[in-house]
Amino acid sequence: MGFSTVLGQELVKKELQRQINGNTLNHAYLIHGNPGLDPQGFAKVFAQGILCMEKQGEIPCGRCIACKKVLSNNHEDLVIYPEETLKVDNVRSLEKDIHIKPYSSGKKIYIINHGEGMTPQGQNALLKTLEEPPSFGIILIVARSKESLLPTIQSRCQGLGLKPVSREEIYDALKNTWGYDEEKARAAAKIAGGKIKTALRFLEDEDYENRRKQLFVLYSEMREKGITASLEALERLSIEKDQIDEVLDLSFSFFRDLLLYKALQKPEWLIHGDQEKLIASLGKNCSREGILGSLKEVEKMQGYTRANVSTKSILEMLVLNIHQALSDK
Ligand SMILES: [Zn+2]
Repeated sequence: MGFSTVLGQELVKKELQRQINGNTLNHAYLIHGNPGLDPQGFAKVFAQGILCMEKQGEIPCGRCIACKKVLSNNHEDLVIYPEETLKVDNVRSLEKDIHIKPYSSGKKIYIINHGEGMTPQGQNALLKTLEEPPSFGIILIVARSKESLLPTIQSRCQGLGLKPVSREEIYDALKNTWGYDEEKARAAAKIAGGKIKTALRFLEDEDYENRRKQLFVLYSEMREKGITASLEALERLSIEKDQIDEVLDLSFSFFRDLLLYKALQKPEWLIHGDQEKLIASLGKNCSREGILGSLKEVEKMQGYTRANVSTKSILEMLVLNIHQALSDK
C-alpha cells in the first residue's frame, strides 16, 4: 500500500510522505494535471495518507479503519465536492464547517474536484478560508491546470503538478496490478501517452474505443466531405465536457502517427497501429505542412481547455481549423 498505488509522481509522493511524517503539512494544495493522470484519485490517496492511523511503516496503510473509511467515501473528517461547478453557497458552508473540530482524527480535509469550474465569485469566497484556516483544516483543490484558477488562489496553495509516467510503468501496472495480458497491456500503454486512466478507458470502455475510431474516420474524410458534414459527424460523437482532454490527446497522437508514417512508413512505430491502413491512405493525400499545421491546432486547443473555453467551441474550432490546415497545403 502506501503512495505506491499511485503510478509515477515520485517527487510529489516523496515530498508528501515527508510532510506527513514530519507533521509539516500545509493548509492548501493545488493538485493539477491532465484528467487522464487521475489527479482526483491522487487527492484521495493523499487524504488517506493524512488520515491513516498507522504511525509506522508506509502510509496510507490501506488496512486501518480510517483508510477503509476513506476508500468507501465514509470518513467523517473528509468532505469531497465532486461538482463540476462549486457554488458560492457550497464555499460558504465549507467556510463554516472547516472551523468545527475534527470528529475522529487530527485533521479535517476538503477535496474540491473540478477546481477549474469554480466561478471567480466562488474562488473569492474561498480566499478568506485559505487566508485564515484553522490549524487542523486542509483543502485540496484538484484542477486541470494551475492557470485555471485565480492567481490569488494559486499563490495560497502549494502546487502539486502531476506528470505523465513512462510507457513501461503503465505496461507493468496493467499486466501486474490489473492482470491484463501482454498484448492488451502493450496496446493500451502505447495509446495512454503516460496516463493510466486513459489506458484503462481504452481497455474497459467501449465508448472510448468507438469514439477513437470514429474520430479518425472523421479526420480522414473531412476534406472530401466538407465542413458541414464534418461538423455533423462531430455532433454524432457526442463528446462530453469530461472527455475533451482525451479527444485532444487522441487527435494529437493521430496526427503524430500520420507525420511519422508519411516520413518513414514504419508501422511498428505507430501508436495507433491498428489504424495503419487509414493513416497510410490519408498520409498519401496530405502534405507534411498540412499535418504539422493540424498538430499545432490540436496543441492550441489543448491550451484553450486550460483557459476554460467551452467544450463545444473548442471542438468546432478544432474541426474547422484542421479542415483548413489539411486543405490549404
Ligand atoms: Zn491506514
